[in-house]
Amino acid sequence: MMANAHPPEEENSREQRIASSIDRLSPQLTALSDRIWELAETKFEEFGSARLLADRLEEAGFDVSHGIGGLPTAFMASFGQGDGPVIALLGEYDALPGLSQRDGVDHPEPLLDGSGNDKGNGHGCGHHLLGTGSLAAAIALKEYLSETGLPGTIRYYGCPAEEGGSGKTFLVREGAFDGVDAALTWHPGYGNAVVSMTSAANYQVRYRFEGRSSHAAASPHTGRSALDAVELMNVGANYLREHVPQSVRFHYAVTNTGGFSPNVVQAKAEVVYLIRAPEVRDVEAVYARINDIAQGAALMTGTEVHIHFEKACSNLIPNVTLERMMQRCFEQLGVPAFTEREQRYAAAISATLAEPSGGSSPIPPPLPETLDVYEPEAGSMLGSTDVADVSWIIPTAQLETVCFTRDTPFHSWQMVAQGRSSAAHKGMLHAAKVMAATAAALMAEPSAVLEATQELRRRGGIEGYACPIPGDVLPPVHPSSRV
Ligand SMILES: [Zn+2]
Repeated sequence: MMANAHPPEEENSREQRIASSIDRLSPQLTALSDRIWELAETKFEEFGSARLLADRLEEAGFDVSHGIGGLPTAFMASFGQGDGPVIALLGEYDALPGLSQRDGVDHPEPLLDGSGNDKGNGHGCGHHLLGTGSLAAAIALKEYLSETGLPGTIRYYGCPAEEGGSGKTFLVREGAFDGVDAALTWHPGYGNAVVSMTSAANYQVRYRFEGRSSHAAASPHTGRSALDAVELMNVGANYLREHVPQSVRFHYAVTNTGGFSPNVVQAKAEVVYLIRAPEVRDVEAVYARINDIAQGAALMTGTEVHIHFEKACSNLIPNVTLERMMQRCFEQLGVPAFTEREQRYAAAISATLAEPSGGSSPIPPPLPETLDVYEPEAGSMLGSTDVADVSWIIPTAQLETVCFTRDTPFHSWQMVAQGRSSAAHKGMLHAAKVMAATAAALMAEPSAVLEATQELRRRGGIEGYACPIPGDVLPPVHPSSRV
Protein backbone atom coordinates (compact mmCIF):
# COMPACT_ATOMS: atom_id res chain seq x y z
CA MET A 1 0.00 0.00 0.00
CA MET A 2 1.35 3.33 -0.90
CA ALA A 3 0.48 6.98 -0.64
CA ASN A 4 2.51 9.80 -1.99
CA ALA A 5 5.99 8.29 -1.90
CA HIS A 6 7.53 11.38 -3.39
CA PRO A 7 7.34 14.73 -1.62
CA PRO A 8 5.78 17.54 -3.60
CA GLU A 9 8.06 20.26 -4.96
CA GLU A 10 7.55 23.21 -2.69
CA GLU A 11 10.16 25.80 -1.79
CA ASN A 12 11.06 26.21 1.87
CA SER A 13 8.04 24.46 3.32
CA ARG A 14 8.14 23.78 7.07
CA GLU A 15 8.94 20.14 6.36
CA GLN A 16 11.79 21.02 4.02
CA ARG A 17 13.40 23.44 6.43
CA ILE A 18 13.32 20.83 9.18
CA ALA A 19 14.58 18.14 6.82
CA SER A 20 17.56 20.23 5.76
CA SER A 21 18.52 20.93 9.42
CA ILE A 22 18.58 17.20 10.06
CA ASP A 23 20.49 16.44 6.85
CA ARG A 24 23.12 19.00 7.81
CA LEU A 25 23.61 17.31 11.22
CA SER A 26 23.43 13.76 9.90
CA PRO A 27 27.14 12.80 10.25
CA GLN A 28 27.13 13.75 13.96
CA LEU A 29 23.76 12.12 14.55
CA THR A 30 24.70 8.80 12.98
CA ALA A 31 28.01 8.78 14.91
CA LEU A 32 26.08 9.33 18.16
CA SER A 33 23.69 6.48 17.40
CA ASP A 34 26.61 4.19 16.47
CA ARG A 35 28.34 4.97 19.74
CA ILE A 36 25.23 4.11 21.77
CA TRP A 37 24.97 0.85 19.79
CA GLU A 38 28.53 0.11 20.88
CA LEU A 39 27.88 0.88 24.55
CA ALA A 40 24.84 -1.46 24.56
CA GLU A 41 23.84 -0.70 28.14
CA THR A 42 20.88 -2.53 29.61
CA LYS A 43 17.98 -1.37 31.78
CA PHE A 44 18.70 1.25 34.44
CA GLU A 45 22.45 1.07 33.70
CA GLU A 46 22.47 3.31 30.63
CA PHE A 47 24.78 5.87 32.25
CA GLY A 48 27.06 6.35 29.23
CA SER A 49 24.24 6.48 26.69
CA ALA A 50 22.15 8.93 28.73
CA ARG A 51 25.21 11.12 29.23
CA LEU A 52 26.02 11.21 25.49
CA LEU A 53 22.47 12.25 24.59
CA ALA A 54 22.10 14.76 27.42
CA ASP A 55 25.47 16.37 26.64
CA ARG A 56 24.56 16.72 22.96
CA LEU A 57 21.30 18.45 23.87
CA GLU A 58 23.03 20.73 26.35
CA GLU A 59 25.52 21.66 23.66
CA ALA A 60 22.59 22.50 21.37
CA GLY A 61 21.25 24.96 23.95
CA PHE A 62 18.74 22.87 25.91
CA ASP A 63 18.40 23.03 29.72
CA VAL A 64 19.01 19.54 31.06
CA SER A 65 17.70 18.00 34.30
CA HIS A 66 19.31 14.69 35.23
CA GLY A 67 17.83 11.84 37.23
CA ILE A 68 14.19 12.89 36.81
CA GLY A 69 11.50 10.82 38.52
CA GLY A 70 14.14 9.27 40.80
CA LEU A 71 15.68 7.30 37.92
CA PRO A 72 19.44 8.00 37.69
CA THR A 73 19.59 7.30 33.93
CA ALA A 74 16.52 9.39 33.06
CA PHE A 75 16.77 13.03 32.06
CA MET A 76 14.78 15.84 30.50
CA ALA A 77 16.09 18.52 28.16
CA SER A 78 13.92 21.53 27.42
CA PHE A 79 13.89 24.59 25.22
CA GLY A 80 11.00 26.97 24.77
CA GLN A 81 9.76 30.41 23.96
CA GLY A 82 6.42 32.14 24.47
CA ASP A 83 3.14 30.57 25.38
CA GLY A 84 2.77 27.79 22.81
CA PRO A 85 2.16 24.10 23.41
CA VAL A 86 4.63 21.93 25.32
CA ILE A 87 5.54 18.98 23.11
CA ALA A 88 7.46 15.98 24.45
CA LEU A 89 9.72 13.87 22.25
CA LEU A 90 10.37 10.49 23.86
CA GLY A 91 13.78 8.84 23.56
CA GLU A 92 14.98 5.37 24.62
CA TYR A 93 18.52 3.98 24.70
CA ASP A 94 18.55 0.64 26.52
CA ALA A 95 19.95 -2.58 25.03
CA LEU A 96 19.07 -6.22 25.73
CA PRO A 97 21.09 -8.83 27.60
CA GLY A 98 22.48 -11.84 25.71
CA LEU A 99 22.37 -10.24 22.26
CA SER A 100 25.94 -9.21 21.60
CA GLN A 101 26.51 -9.32 17.83
CA ARG A 102 28.94 -7.95 15.27
CA ASP A 103 27.36 -5.47 12.90
CA GLY A 104 27.26 -5.50 9.11
CA VAL A 105 27.38 -9.31 8.77
CA ASP A 106 24.74 -11.85 7.78
CA HIS A 107 25.51 -14.58 10.29
CA PRO A 108 25.41 -14.82 14.08
CA GLU A 109 28.74 -13.72 15.58
CA PRO A 110 28.89 -12.38 19.13
CA LEU A 111 31.25 -9.51 19.86
CA LEU A 112 34.10 -10.49 22.14
CA ASP A 113 35.79 -8.45 24.82
CA GLY A 114 39.58 -8.22 25.39
CA SER A 115 39.65 -11.64 27.14
CA GLY A 116 37.78 -13.38 24.37
CA ASN A 117 34.46 -13.53 26.26
CA ASP A 118 31.09 -12.71 24.72
CA LYS A 119 30.42 -9.03 25.45
CA GLY A 120 26.87 -9.92 26.41
CA ASN A 121 24.51 -7.12 25.48
CA GLY A 122 23.21 -5.85 22.17
CA HIS A 123 20.78 -3.33 20.72
CA GLY A 124 18.19 -5.91 19.68
CA CYS A 125 15.32 -3.41 19.60
CA GLY A 126 17.08 -0.49 17.90
CA HIS A 127 16.76 1.85 20.88
CA HIS A 128 20.12 3.48 20.01
CA LEU A 129 18.34 4.71 16.85
CA LEU A 130 15.19 5.57 18.80
CA GLY A 131 16.96 7.78 21.32
CA THR A 132 19.10 9.51 18.71
CA GLY A 133 16.23 9.99 16.24
CA SER A 134 14.12 11.75 18.87
CA LEU A 135 17.14 13.88 19.80
CA ALA A 136 17.59 14.84 16.13
CA ALA A 137 13.93 15.91 16.02
CA ALA A 138 14.38 18.02 19.16
CA ILE A 139 17.45 19.81 17.81
CA ALA A 140 15.90 20.49 14.38
CA LEU A 141 12.73 21.75 16.02
CA LYS A 142 14.71 24.10 18.24
CA GLU A 143 16.42 25.54 15.15
CA TYR A 144 13.04 25.98 13.50
CA LEU A 145 11.54 27.73 16.55
CA SER A 146 14.58 29.99 16.87
CA GLU A 147 14.40 30.98 13.21
CA THR A 148 10.66 31.52 13.03
CA GLY A 149 9.93 32.82 16.55
CA LEU A 150 7.00 30.38 16.74
CA PRO A 151 5.93 30.02 20.39
CA GLY A 152 6.29 26.56 21.87
CA THR A 153 8.33 24.37 24.21
CA ILE A 154 10.19 21.20 23.31
CA ARG A 155 10.99 18.64 25.96
CA TYR A 156 13.19 15.67 25.16
CA TYR A 157 12.58 12.89 27.65
CA GLY A 158 15.45 10.46 28.10
CA CYS A 159 13.52 7.36 29.16
CA PRO A 160 15.54 4.43 30.50
CA ALA A 161 14.69 0.76 30.75
CA GLU A 162 11.95 0.29 28.17
CA GLU A 163 13.00 -3.36 28.07
CA GLY A 164 12.03 -5.14 31.26
CA GLY A 165 11.93 -2.01 33.40
CA SER A 166 8.98 0.13 32.21
CA GLY A 167 10.98 3.29 32.93
CA LYS A 168 8.25 5.54 31.55
CA THR A 169 5.60 4.07 33.84
CA PHE A 170 7.75 5.02 36.84
CA LEU A 171 8.29 8.49 35.32
CA VAL A 172 4.55 8.94 34.82
CA ARG A 173 3.88 7.81 38.40
CA GLU A 174 6.39 10.37 39.70
CA GLY A 175 4.81 13.23 37.72
CA ALA A 176 7.78 13.76 35.37
CA PHE A 177 5.43 14.47 32.44
CA ASP A 178 3.34 17.09 34.22
CA GLY A 179 2.77 20.14 32.04
CA VAL A 180 3.22 18.35 28.70
CA ASP A 181 0.45 18.91 26.09
CA ALA A 182 1.32 16.20 23.55
CA ALA A 183 3.95 13.48 23.15
CA LEU A 184 5.53 12.11 19.99
CA THR A 185 7.77 9.13 19.51
CA TRP A 186 8.78 6.47 17.02
CA HIS A 187 10.20 2.98 16.82
CA PRO A 188 12.62 1.63 14.24
CA GLY A 189 11.02 -1.15 12.22
CA TYR A 190 10.56 -2.42 8.67
CA GLY A 191 7.59 -0.37 7.55
CA ASN A 192 6.91 3.33 7.03
CA ALA A 193 3.74 4.06 8.95
CA VAL A 194 1.96 6.09 11.55
CA VAL A 195 1.21 3.40 14.10
CA SER A 196 -2.34 3.47 15.43
CA MET A 197 -2.39 0.35 17.54
CA THR A 198 -3.02 -0.47 21.12
CA SER A 199 -0.59 -2.64 23.08
CA ALA A 200 -0.90 -5.19 25.86
CA ALA A 201 -0.79 -4.22 29.52
CA ASN A 202 1.64 -6.27 31.58
CA TYR A 203 3.00 -7.08 35.02
CA GLN A 204 6.48 -8.43 35.70
CA VAL A 205 6.75 -10.44 38.89
CA ARG A 206 9.65 -12.26 40.57
CA TYR A 207 8.91 -15.45 42.54
CA ARG A 208 11.70 -16.40 44.95
CA PHE A 209 11.45 -19.79 46.60
CA GLU A 210 13.38 -20.65 49.73
CA GLY A 211 13.85 -24.18 51.03
CA ARG A 212 16.59 -26.07 52.88
CA SER A 213 19.78 -27.49 51.41
CA SER A 214 21.06 -30.96 52.19
CA HIS A 215 23.07 -33.83 50.70
CA ALA A 216 20.88 -35.10 47.88
CA ALA A 217 21.86 -38.76 48.49
CA ALA A 218 22.81 -38.99 52.16
CA SER A 219 20.01 -36.90 53.68
CA PRO A 220 17.45 -36.03 51.00
CA HIS A 221 14.62 -36.20 53.54
CA THR A 222 15.96 -33.13 55.35
CA GLY A 223 16.14 -31.04 52.18
CA ARG A 224 13.36 -28.83 50.81
CA SER A 225 13.99 -28.05 47.16
CA ALA A 226 13.32 -24.54 45.90
CA LEU A 227 14.11 -25.77 42.39
CA ASP A 228 11.32 -28.37 42.67
CA ALA A 229 9.00 -25.50 43.61
CA VAL A 230 9.97 -23.48 40.53
CA GLU A 231 9.42 -26.51 38.28
CA LEU A 232 6.04 -27.29 39.85
CA MET A 233 4.99 -23.67 39.63
CA ASN A 234 5.77 -23.63 35.91
CA VAL A 235 3.85 -26.88 35.37
CA GLY A 236 0.87 -25.37 37.18
CA ALA A 237 1.07 -22.15 35.17
CA ASN A 238 1.29 -24.07 31.92
CA TYR A 239 -1.95 -25.89 32.85
CA LEU A 240 -3.53 -22.51 33.57
CA ARG A 241 -3.03 -21.49 29.93
CA GLU A 242 -6.08 -23.48 28.86
CA HIS A 243 -8.29 -21.52 31.23
CA VAL A 244 -7.49 -17.90 30.47
CA PRO A 245 -8.93 -15.68 27.72
CA GLN A 246 -7.35 -16.09 24.25
CA SER A 247 -5.73 -12.68 24.45
CA VAL A 248 -3.75 -13.46 27.62
CA ARG A 249 -0.06 -14.28 27.26
CA PHE A 250 2.40 -15.15 29.98
CA HIS A 251 6.05 -16.08 29.73
CA TYR A 252 8.67 -16.96 32.28
CA ALA A 253 12.45 -17.08 32.68
CA VAL A 254 14.14 -19.15 35.38
CA THR A 255 16.67 -16.68 36.74
CA ASN A 256 18.09 -18.87 39.51
CA THR A 257 18.14 -22.66 39.41
CA GLY A 258 19.81 -22.88 42.79
CA GLY A 259 23.28 -23.84 41.66
CA PHE A 260 25.27 -26.26 39.55
CA SER A 261 25.45 -29.31 41.80
CA PRO A 262 22.94 -32.11 41.35
CA ASN A 263 24.09 -33.62 44.67
CA VAL A 264 22.88 -30.60 46.65
CA VAL A 265 19.20 -29.98 47.33
CA GLN A 266 18.76 -26.44 45.98
CA ALA A 267 17.70 -24.11 48.78
CA LYS A 268 17.07 -21.02 46.64
CA ALA A 269 15.53 -20.70 43.20
CA GLU A 270 13.74 -17.97 41.31
CA VAL A 271 11.50 -17.51 38.29
CA VAL A 272 10.34 -14.24 36.70
CA TYR A 273 6.91 -14.03 35.09
CA LEU A 274 5.70 -11.53 32.52
CA ILE A 275 1.91 -11.54 32.32
CA ARG A 276 0.16 -9.74 29.44
CA ALA A 277 -3.47 -9.02 28.60
CA PRO A 278 -5.41 -6.32 26.73
CA GLU A 279 -6.11 -4.32 29.90
CA VAL A 280 -4.63 -3.99 33.37
CA ARG A 281 -7.67 -5.54 35.09
CA ASP A 282 -7.29 -8.71 32.98
CA VAL A 283 -3.60 -8.90 33.91
CA GLU A 284 -4.56 -8.49 37.57
CA ALA A 285 -6.96 -11.45 37.39
CA VAL A 286 -4.32 -13.78 35.88
CA TYR A 287 -1.71 -12.49 38.32
CA ALA A 288 -3.93 -13.53 41.25
CA ARG A 289 -4.20 -17.05 39.84
CA ILE A 290 -0.46 -17.32 39.21
CA ASN A 291 0.16 -16.22 42.81
CA ASP A 292 -2.10 -19.07 43.96
CA ILE A 293 -0.10 -21.48 41.82
CA ALA A 294 3.15 -20.20 43.39
CA GLN A 295 1.69 -20.70 46.88
CA GLY A 296 0.55 -24.20 45.84
CA ALA A 297 4.05 -25.06 44.64
CA ALA A 298 5.50 -23.81 47.94
CA LEU A 299 3.00 -25.93 49.88
CA MET A 300 3.80 -29.04 47.83
CA THR A 301 7.53 -28.70 48.39
CA GLY A 302 7.64 -27.39 51.94
CA THR A 303 9.31 -24.19 50.78
CA GLU A 304 8.40 -20.54 51.12
CA VAL A 305 7.68 -18.17 48.28
CA HIS A 306 8.40 -14.44 48.26
CA ILE A 307 6.47 -12.56 45.60
CA HIS A 308 8.17 -9.42 44.37
CA PHE A 309 6.13 -7.18 42.05
CA GLU A 310 8.75 -5.68 39.76
CA LYS A 311 7.07 -3.42 37.22
CA ALA A 312 4.01 -2.96 35.04
CA CYS A 313 2.65 -1.01 32.12
CA SER A 314 -0.80 -0.14 30.77
CA ASN A 315 -2.35 -0.69 27.35
CA LEU A 316 -1.80 2.07 24.80
CA ILE A 317 -4.48 4.60 23.84
CA PRO A 318 -3.98 5.72 20.23
CA ASN A 319 -4.82 9.36 19.43
CA VAL A 320 -6.37 9.74 15.99
CA THR A 321 -6.20 13.56 16.04
CA LEU A 322 -2.43 13.55 16.45
CA GLU A 323 -1.96 10.58 14.14
CA ARG A 324 -3.76 12.28 11.26
CA MET A 325 -1.50 15.28 11.64
CA MET A 326 1.58 13.05 11.74
CA GLN A 327 0.40 11.20 8.64
CA ARG A 328 0.05 14.50 6.74
CA CYS A 329 3.64 15.41 7.64
CA PHE A 330 4.83 11.92 6.66
CA GLU A 331 3.12 12.28 3.26
CA GLN A 332 4.79 15.66 2.74
CA LEU A 333 8.22 14.22 3.53
CA GLY A 334 7.83 10.99 1.58
CA VAL A 335 9.89 7.92 2.48
CA PRO A 336 13.62 7.09 2.37
CA ALA A 337 15.02 5.52 -0.80
CA PHE A 338 17.58 2.75 -0.45
CA THR A 339 20.55 1.95 -2.64
CA GLU A 340 21.12 -1.33 -4.40
CA ARG A 341 23.90 -2.13 -1.94
CA GLU A 342 21.54 -1.56 1.00
CA GLN A 343 18.91 -3.79 -0.58
CA ARG A 344 21.55 -6.49 -1.20
CA TYR A 345 22.59 -6.60 2.46
CA ALA A 346 18.91 -6.67 3.43
CA ALA A 347 18.36 -9.61 1.06
CA ALA A 348 21.27 -11.46 2.71
CA ILE A 349 19.66 -10.90 6.13
CA SER A 350 16.31 -11.95 4.72
CA ALA A 351 17.82 -15.30 3.69
CA THR A 352 18.65 -16.02 7.36
CA LEU A 353 15.08 -15.51 8.61
CA ALA A 354 13.03 -18.54 9.58
CA GLU A 355 10.06 -17.45 7.52
CA PRO A 356 11.19 -15.04 4.83
CA SER A 357 8.32 -13.03 3.45
CA GLY A 358 7.01 -14.09 0.09
CA GLY A 359 3.94 -15.34 -1.66
CA SER A 360 2.78 -11.97 -2.88
CA SER A 361 3.40 -10.80 -6.41
CA PRO A 362 5.46 -8.83 -7.21
CA ILE A 363 7.80 -9.64 -4.31
CA PRO A 364 8.41 -6.43 -2.36
CA PRO A 365 12.01 -5.29 -1.79
CA PRO A 366 13.51 -6.34 1.56
CA LEU A 367 13.71 -2.64 2.53
CA PRO A 368 10.26 -1.26 1.62
CA GLU A 369 10.05 2.15 -0.04
CA THR A 370 6.36 2.87 0.40
CA LEU A 371 4.30 4.65 3.02
CA ASP A 372 1.46 2.60 4.51
CA VAL A 373 -2.01 4.04 4.17
CA TYR A 374 -3.08 5.35 7.59
CA GLU A 375 -5.46 3.00 9.34
CA PRO A 376 -6.92 4.47 12.54
CA GLU A 377 -7.07 2.04 15.46
CA ALA A 378 -5.71 -0.90 13.52
CA GLY A 379 -5.86 -3.45 16.36
CA SER A 380 -3.23 -4.53 18.86
CA MET A 381 0.52 -4.95 18.45
CA LEU A 382 0.36 -7.92 20.92
CA GLY A 383 3.58 -6.85 22.61
CA SER A 384 3.75 -4.11 25.23
CA THR A 385 5.37 -0.71 25.54
CA ASP A 386 5.74 1.72 28.40
CA VAL A 387 4.80 4.52 25.96
CA ALA A 388 1.31 3.28 26.88
CA ASP A 389 1.38 4.93 30.29
CA VAL A 390 2.33 8.26 28.71
CA SER A 391 -0.57 7.81 26.26
CA TRP A 392 -3.04 7.60 29.20
CA ILE A 393 -2.17 11.04 30.53
CA ILE A 394 -0.99 12.93 27.42
CA PRO A 395 -2.20 12.58 23.81
CA THR A 396 0.54 10.53 22.15
CA ALA A 397 1.36 9.56 18.56
CA GLN A 398 4.00 7.22 17.21
CA LEU A 399 5.47 6.32 13.86
CA GLU A 400 7.69 3.65 12.45
CA THR A 401 10.26 3.91 9.68
CA VAL A 402 12.18 1.31 7.71
CA CYS A 403 15.52 0.71 9.42
CA PHE A 404 15.68 -3.08 9.11
CA THR A 405 14.97 -5.84 6.60
CA ARG A 406 11.32 -6.79 6.26
CA ASP A 407 10.23 -9.31 8.94
CA THR A 408 13.43 -9.08 10.98
CA PRO A 409 12.36 -10.37 14.40
CA PHE A 410 12.78 -7.85 17.20
CA HIS A 411 15.24 -8.96 19.89
CA SER A 412 17.28 -11.06 17.45
CA TRP A 413 20.93 -11.10 16.31
CA GLN A 414 19.75 -9.96 12.89
CA MET A 415 18.39 -6.73 14.35
CA VAL A 416 21.64 -6.05 16.22
CA ALA A 417 23.67 -6.78 13.07
CA GLN A 418 21.71 -4.15 11.11
CA GLY A 419 21.87 -1.51 13.85
CA ARG A 420 24.71 0.52 12.34
CA SER A 421 23.83 0.04 8.67
CA SER A 422 23.31 3.03 6.38
CA ALA A 423 19.68 1.90 5.95
CA ALA A 424 19.15 2.10 9.73
CA HIS A 425 20.67 5.60 9.74
CA LYS A 426 18.37 6.69 6.92
CA GLY A 427 15.29 5.41 8.72
CA MET A 428 16.35 7.14 11.94
CA LEU A 429 16.92 10.52 10.27
CA HIS A 430 13.65 10.26 8.41
CA ALA A 431 11.70 9.49 11.59
CA ALA A 432 13.29 12.58 13.14
CA LYS A 433 12.04 14.72 10.26
CA VAL A 434 8.47 13.45 10.57
CA MET A 435 8.43 13.95 14.36
CA ALA A 436 9.90 17.45 14.20
CA ALA A 437 7.51 18.45 11.40
CA THR A 438 4.55 17.11 13.39
CA ALA A 439 5.63 18.99 16.52
CA ALA A 440 6.06 22.21 14.51
CA ALA A 441 2.62 21.72 12.97
CA LEU A 442 1.12 21.33 16.46
CA MET A 443 2.85 24.49 17.64
CA ALA A 444 1.51 26.36 14.64
CA GLU A 445 -1.98 25.00 15.29
CA PRO A 446 -2.50 24.75 19.08
CA SER A 447 -6.22 24.04 18.62
CA ALA A 448 -5.21 20.56 17.39
CA VAL A 449 -3.56 19.95 20.77
CA LEU A 450 -6.80 20.82 22.54
CA GLU A 451 -8.75 18.55 20.22
CA ALA A 452 -6.26 15.72 20.89
CA THR A 453 -6.68 16.23 24.65
CA GLN A 454 -10.46 16.11 24.33
CA GLU A 455 -10.14 12.89 22.35
CA LEU A 456 -8.00 11.36 25.11
CA ARG A 457 -10.57 12.35 27.75
CA ARG A 458 -13.35 10.80 25.64
CA ARG A 459 -11.39 7.56 25.53
CA GLY A 460 -11.13 7.41 29.30
CA GLY A 461 -7.62 8.79 29.70
CA ILE A 462 -6.28 11.56 32.00
CA GLU A 463 -8.73 11.37 34.95
CA GLY A 464 -9.30 7.67 34.22
CA TYR A 465 -5.63 6.74 34.61
CA ALA A 466 -4.45 4.59 37.48
CA CYS A 467 -0.75 3.75 37.52
CA PRO A 468 -0.37 -0.05 37.40
CA ILE A 469 2.80 0.10 39.52
CA PRO A 470 1.89 0.40 43.21
CA GLY A 471 3.33 3.44 45.01
CA ASP A 472 5.65 1.36 47.22
CA VAL A 473 7.34 -0.51 44.35
CA LEU A 474 10.76 1.02 43.69
CA PRO A 475 12.52 0.78 40.34
CA PRO A 476 15.44 -1.70 40.47
CA VAL A 477 18.04 0.96 39.65
CA HIS A 478 21.78 0.40 39.71
CA PRO A 479 22.77 0.00 43.40
CA SER A 480 25.79 2.33 43.18
CA SER A 481 23.65 5.14 41.75
CA ARG A 482 21.26 5.34 44.67
CA VAL A 483 21.60 8.54 46.68
ZN1 LIG B 1 11.73 -1.43 21.44
